[in-house]
Amino acid sequence: MLFSQLASYLGKLEKTRSRNEITEILADLFTHAKADEIGKLSYLLQGRVVPLYEAVEFGIADKFIIRAIALAYNVSSEDVMREFKKLGDLGYAAQSLHNGVSKGLRVVDVYEALYCIATVSGQGSQEKKIGLLSNLLMKLDKESACYVVRIPIDKLRLGFSETTILDALSWMLVGDKTLRSTLEDAYNVRPDIGYISETVKREGIEGLRHVRARVGSPVLSQLSQRLPNADDMIKKMGEVAVEPKYDGVRVELHFKRGSWVRTFSRNLENTTEMFPELTNVGNELRADDVILDGEAVGLDPKTGKTISFQETTTRKRKHNIAEASKSVPLKFFVFDILYKNGKDLLSVPLSERRKILEHTVVPGVLLAISPQIVTSEANVVRSYHDKQLKAGLEGAMVKKWNSPYEPGRRGYSWVKFKEEEGKTGKLTDTIDAVVMGYYLGEGKRTGFGIGALLVGVKKADAYVTVTKIGTGVSDELWKALRTKLHAINTREQPKEYQDVNKVFLPDVWVSPRVVVELAGDDLTKSPSHGAGYAVRFPRLVRIRTDKRPDQVTTVVELTEMFTNQKSHTKK
Ligand code: AMP
Repeated sequence: MLFSQLASYLGKLEKTRSRNEITEILADLFTHAKADEIGKLSYLLQGRVVPLYEAVEFGIADKFIIRAIALAYNVSSEDVMREFKKLGDLGYAAQSLHNGVSKGLRVVDVYEALYCIATVSGQGSQEKKIGLLSNLLMKLDKESACYVVRIPIDKLRLGFSETTILDALSWMLVGDKTLRSTLEDAYNVRPDIGYISETVKREGIEGLRHVRARVGSPVLSQLSQRLPNADDMIKKMGEVAVEPKYDGVRVELHFKRGSWVRTFSRNLENTTEMFPELTNVGNELRADDVILDGEAVGLDPKTGKTISFQETTTRKRKHNIAEASKSVPLKFFVFDILYKNGKDLLSVPLSERRKILEHTVVPGVLLAISPQIVTSEANVVRSYHDKQLKAGLEGAMVKKWNSPYEPGRRGYSWVKFKEEEGKTGKLTDTIDAVVMGYYLGEGKRTGFGIGALLVGVKKADAYVTVTKIGTGVSDELWKALRTKLHAINTREQPKEYQDVNKVFLPDVWVSPRVVVELAGDDLTKSPSHGAGYAVRFPRLVRIRTDKRPDQVTTVVELTEMFTNQKSHTKK
């Protein structure tokens, strides 16, 4: 397939808002792609050249793209800058200055060139990247140049995620979305969209039956549901394991003896650099290769007590890591095992996995096995939970004892138990929301450039508003938000934002990238918010760098929270 053919699909996708139409356009594209093209196409559609979990980033700033365009079309950087200012988009700027000769490059040629640009490293790499990009631009037609320019600066913004690609693969195979859940199950085990699409193109849906967890590539983390109280938990789940709910950072640890240790966040980010101490983890493992799931928690070296998420994540700032690993030693509380010595354990029941885990982890300086009790009695669950709260933890995690590990699923096999719903009359759990836009500062905040946020939750593949937040945000948090949000401003309302009421239109839209956690007094029904609910007295708790926008709270979850809240107010 020629890249110019892909570019005309991209043109159609850019103009389309309807999810179904997007799916059909993608399905048509996939039908026309060959088996050795579809994987590369799937990455490119997400503005990438590798799966999400591989830390290959283009690392080119706008000013270097400007130089590459200037070089390609033999104009000055000032000319490019002028077009950029006028048109508001570097892709359009390239298109308007284009005077190259189209060489009819294929999708695979462009992919290879972009891959090279992304992976060039070492001295003088910026200059090399500029050279490679300008070389590529010279050979492309106008429309292709526009899209190729947007990829390295993450501005492709087609407005759909990998889940829509899964829908489109189903559509390609059977003409509707009925295979989506089979595709999603495989994707949750191997979240590599290129691999999944190539597999189904080559082998059909049957090919996915062989997809297994593999040490080195992350498995999507199992997620938890909410239930209002311990009685409901036992009723729904039967025999359960109950564990402390640590307030730390989720870590999926992959270990291959003699080769490497890697860690991934629940966001699929490769976080290995954050945990230099793990190079010695082999001393505490009885296995040649293994995937463990757990929570990393900071320990106060004096008291030995766990410390907050905020302090634990100060380690995220790279330059702090070495220092922090001394002042805030981490403990990895391991609560699950997904793979051991070549064997995928995902379908093995938790009761069995726990035994394997206990034979594999030798608790030491780095690793601890999360303590747990196993019970079928609500009172026992409740008192274990209360004990955790007294000890300063967040609450308890309740897990169905005979359940398999369910990657990426938020089902009733895991339930979080933070505070019994209705005890205080307040929202018993925080809400994760995506920042959709912001309002410029007023009053005290004039000049600061940001005064309030518009945030939303997920409704199917779209985001709908749930509240505006202006208060309860510290200056430090505002500053951090300002930097993050300024980088993702967009002129137009992103396609994924639906039903935004006029009264909430923000001064500046931002792409759906930044996730925040908010607390509130309770939920009220709201005709003006797209979610149908509003959060009363919203307060911003923190930025959740460990969550992806598609992992925010959903309208379905809000409805459950609202129903629970109502049934308790009635009592
Ligand atoms: P939440 O982020 O509120 O949805 O809670 C789920 C998160 O709790 C998981 O992603 C883990 O990071 C964390 N967690 C803490 N302790 C445990 C545990 N014992 N089992 C599972 N998850 C835990």
